[in-house]
Amino acid sequence: MDKWVVKCKSEGLCRRCGKPADDKAGGGKYVLCADCRTLDKKRRESLSAVGLCKGCGEPKVRDEHKYCAKCRQIALEKYYSRKGLEKCQGI
Ligand SMILES: [Zn+2]
Ligand SMILES: [Zn+2]
Repeated sequence: MDKWVVKCKSEGLCRRCGKPADDKAGGGKYVLCADCRTLDKKRRESLSAVGLCKGCGEPKVRDEHKYCAKCRQIALEKYYSRKGLEKCQGI
């Protein structure tokens, strides 16, 4: 984790613009301020409306998913690595 991310986390600042993130509403789970979250949401919605991946903005091959194959693969790998980690800790 780089210094900027650590600073934002400890001080509750938006990771993108440095404004205070309204963490009270999110209970500490938000890393972006309300403005950036709204912008992000709008951007993802407009991407998906024109048939682009919500994750990376690349054109999707198949239309039934919100994310392209690459982003789904990344999400899947994250999921399995987390599962593997839990298994290790469980022993
Ligand atoms: Zn922000
Ligand atoms: Zn993608």
